[in-house]
Amino acid sequence: MTISEKVAYLKGLAEGLNLDTEKSKEGKLISVMIGIMEELAMSVEDLEENALNLGEEIDVLSDDLADVEEVVFDEDDDDMEDYDDDWFEVECPTCGADIVVDDEALADGEVECPGCGTRYAMELSDDDEEEAGETPED
Ligand SMILES: [Zn+2]
Repeated sequence: MTISEKVAYLKGLAEGLNLDTEKSKEGKLISVMIGIMEELAMSVEDLEENALNLGEEIDVLSDDLADVEEVVFDEDDDDMEDYDDDWFEVECPTCGADIVVDDEALADGEVECPGCGTRYAMELSDDDEEEAGETPED
């Protein structure tokens, strides 16, 4: 039973008592109380319906936000992986040995050939890597 149905049941019980709502103070009191209960029941049911609608709208917003997060943060993750996990090798122009260029070399701004010890400066074009090179004590 909903609150409205319970109040309607109560109202039926009161009417069954044949209360004198004009001359009896008690009868009038009960009549007014039931009237207030009817209004309360309608207000509560309106609020419950609004709360349900708000909950559904929040679910929709939450799903939309999850889609946005997926796009925004996944792209960031991909960018980070390019620098954190990837590395490549270049051939030393002096001795022909393979020089590993990883994120540490990018942060240092130079690499040293393991074969002949020649140091090569790295050209950094990405803003993030430049910042990493400028603040090694971070
Ligand atoms: Zn070399």
